[in-house]
Amino acid sequence: MSAAEETGIIIIGGGIAGAGAAFEVSRNSKVVLLERESHCGYHTTGRSAASFTENYGNGVIRRIVLASRSFLTEPPAGFCDYPLLSKRGMITVARADQLDLLREDMEAAQALVPSIVAMTSAEAIARVPVLRADYLAGAYIEPHSMDIDVNGLHQGYLRGARARGARIVTNAGVKAIGRQGGQWRVETPAGTFIAPTLVNAAGAWGDEIAVMAGVRPIGLQPKRRTAFNIPAPAGVDISDWPLVNDVGAEFYFKPDAGQLFVSPADATPSAPMDAYAEDIDVAIGAERLERATTIEVQRVSRSWAGLRTFVADGSPVVGPDDALPDFVWLVGQGGYGIKTSPALSRVCASLIAGKGFPDDVARQGVSMDDLAPHRLRGVESRARQVAS
Ligand SMILES: Cc1cc2nc3c(=O)[nH]c(=O)nc-3n(C[C@H](O)[C@H](O)[C@H](O)COP(=O)(O)OP(=O)(O)OC[C@H]3O[C@@H](n4cnc5c(N)ncnc54)[C@H](O)[C@@H]3O)c2cc1C
Repeated sequence: MSAAEETGIIIIGGGIAGAGAAFEVSRNSKVVLLERESHCGYHTTGRSAASFTENYGNGVIRRIVLASRSFLTEPPAGFCDYPLLSKRGMITVARADQLDLLREDMEAAQALVPSIVAMTSAEAIARVPVLRADYLAGAYIEPHSMDIDVNGLHQGYLRGARARGARIVTNAGVKAIGRQGGQWRVETPAGTFIAPTLVNAAGAWGDEIAVMAGVRPIGLQPKRRTAFNIPAPAGVDISDWPLVNDVGAEFYFKPDAGQLFVSPADATPSAPMDAYAEDIDVAIGAERLERATTIEVQRVSRSWAGLRTFVADGSPVVGPDDALPDFVWLVGQGGYGIKTSPALSRVCASLIAGKGFPDDVARQGVSMDDLAPHRLRGVESRARQVAS
């Protein structure tokens, strides 16, 4: 048996969360990132809609997105070969029976994103000519919503982490977590690793990792979301279309490398697993698209699903566990983990380095209490924190 490898920080999970954390944490510490699959990004990170909108998710999410924007618009020198964000825009549409919801939604959105403005149905149809005039009753546009180069961002994090000495170990599914000499001992088929601090960035499997480590789980709930590609309507240049989002969260679609990306915006509770698209969810998405547009779905070129993982309040969970502070949570990013990764990675690294909550994230109105795991523990554990 080969000797255990000692390091400063072990990160479990090579999705965008673990990769971002490795990038930031490796500034100050020796890092080993452990990924179960043969390549990083195989699960939810490789299955997203690649959208950067400041107008989606609860208030905490939206503020974290604002705190992430500057990294994505001006990444560090040498981080990537191409811009991480590209122009897209996002139109939120409503039927007649959704107009009250549209008004409320737009007013709430404008509070954080003042560039959002109402559009007439005719203006929306001028931007996306397949929208049906007899479906659409109102719309608003977020002009600065962007597409994210998810692969560019993910690989940039991993490359940057490696350049700072981090080791990215694939085919390294964590099988057991124990204690040795006051440190974490993590066993995988690729070797055994020992470190004083463990970061749990295992996405849908986050609570399973906690249980392995003897830490109380926080109630993570993975939810399946389906997506599929269909060919673009014949003879139509769709490249400039914005993302079109139903205000009632029944569907969204956007251009995707010459095809259309469509999702029924489903959120079906699931166990942690290698998620796949159910035919019924693809059919529901196609039916909703056909109701709102003149598109007839004749062929689905590819379908897939990924798990968006939430805790009860819909905000991410970042920071040391309340009972075992050398176990650091970085989970619960829901449907927002790509666009929030710059700020959440920095929060995670700053807390590990003992530097407190980053000022720029606090200036956006997010506090440690919005993200810390103790908020999910109930009164009992909060009382223990105050007492200690
Ligand atoms: C259809 C869809 C659309 C989305 N659209 C957007 C969007 O437009 N914008 C946005 O910001 N977000 C979007 N999201 C959400 C985003 O993709 C996720 O929030 C993000 O990818 C979560 O990243 P993660 O690293 O936490 O999880 P993952 O990418 O799932 O990574 C977790 C990793 O942990 C590894 N792991 C688990 N257990 C172990 C173990 N025991 N040992 C070792 N490794 C382990 C897994 O193999 C996995 O690679 C979307 C998601 C879906 C499904």
